[in-house]
Amino acid sequence: MIKLKTELPGPRSKALDAERKKYVPRGVASYTHIYVVKAHGAELEDVDGNRLLDFAAGIAVTNVGHAPERIVRAVQEQASRFLHASINVTPYEGYVRLSERLNRVTPDPFPKKTLLVNSGAEAVENAIKIARAATGRTAVVCFEHAYHGRPHMAMTLTSHALPYKVGFGPYCPDVYRAPFPYLYRWPGTGEKGGEEDFVAEECFRQFEDMVAIDIDASQVAAVIIEPVQGEGGFLPAPVKFLKKLQAFCRENGIVFIADEVQTGFGRTGTLLACERLGAEPDIVTMGKGLGAGMPISAVTGRADIMDAVGVGGIGGTYAGNPLSCASALEVLDMFEDGSLLKCARAMEEPLRKRLLSFKDKYEFIGNVQGIGTMQAMEIVKSRATKEPDWEAAWKILTHCYKRGLVILSAGTYDSIVRMLMPLTIEPEQVEEGLDVLETALQALKT
Ligand code: PMP
Repeated sequence: MIKLKTELPGPRSKALDAERKKYVPRGVASYTHIYVVKAHGAELEDVDGNRLLDFAAGIAVTNVGHAPERIVRAVQEQASRFLHASINVTPYEGYVRLSERLNRVTPDPFPKKTLLVNSGAEAVENAIKIARAATGRTAVVCFEHAYHGRPHMAMTLTSHALPYKVGFGPYCPDVYRAPFPYLYRWPGTGEKGGEEDFVAEECFRQFEDMVAIDIDASQVAAVIIEPVQGEGGFLPAPVKFLKKLQAFCRENGIVFIADEVQTGFGRTGTLLACERLGAEPDIVTMGKGLGAGMPISAVTGRADIMDAVGVGGIGGTYAGNPLSCASALEVLDMFEDGSLLKCARAMEEPLRKRLLSFKDKYEFIGNVQGIGTMQAMEIVKSRATKEPDWEAAWKILTHCYKRGLVILSAGTYDSIVRMLMPLTIEPEQVEEGLDVLETALQALKT
């Protein structure tokens, strides 16, 4: 329950923020200026004693809630034994156990192997290296509106020039971009939708053309796609499109990579989005929700592809840190009996319904999109032109956080309001948050 003792941000948060401005570069952005001291379930407590509701989950990380007891215990237990040894020096069981579990839970019929690293972007960087080593080719195809991270290859694959790319060039060579089947913004699609098959066909045709004209399939090492674009604004790729891409990759010896860093671990109602969308990628990258807040990410893929890299070619000092492995193993245990996924699936319909009811009332909501608990609203200047309205989206976020609801935007135009609450959130807390969100929508209307 939201309980505010001060205006937000409160005096202590403000004081810390003043220090932060002195010590931390401005390039590290924050959605809010509220400094957290505690977090539990779907609630955050700040340095001024305010209790806030969390619809951000640390950007899709605390899917199992903030600091569940069993995760804290597993990490403490590991910490009491050893903090670090490095897989590259003296290996440890947690790395092996977690790899084995991830090989089992990722959808595809092949024997698999897993590389553990530290962040989503690091997983993406490694997936591309592995695909290049396995194919002996260099070209990589990614998609418009994609987000894959900030290091150089991941940044190159990312579609959003500002703030992620401008000034950081040159980018990595041999990266090509194809259109993403963005249903709402695909030219010629109406407000009613229902054009999924048409967009899937047309988008795939453009992909095939681009590959044939600009690269030639024989030169392509990998195609990397988010099955549901996260930072792009919760855009699910149509099943038909994913199936065609997958078939194209298989026919042409191309490694098909699904970046599930944001979609992973229950967000779409299945453990991974590929399961729900019927895709069987050669490699899956995972991060965020895997560690429940402990930094860890994974590249799980076909064993023959993963083994293409020579000994010592992949890894890193902290890769698959033992504390993070302990946390991730506990996360997988928490998902094992299916009850968390059941919660996620139970949340989908009411959440979507409420957002659609907002769309009925407020003209500036151009579209409600997403899958599972990944639901989002496109904020537009006009439904006729679909012109994105990032200023209005920011007004909504600011209004919400000042009233104790932490909620994020997304999208190439930063005009999409997205829901990323922990999957363990109580239905009443969802309603409470959506009530706050509605006051923001009302305020914008007046
Ligand atoms: N891939 C996707 C799909 C993501 O959503 C993100 C993070 N938003 C990343 C990669 C990068 O992850 P990280 O910030 O952990 O490097």
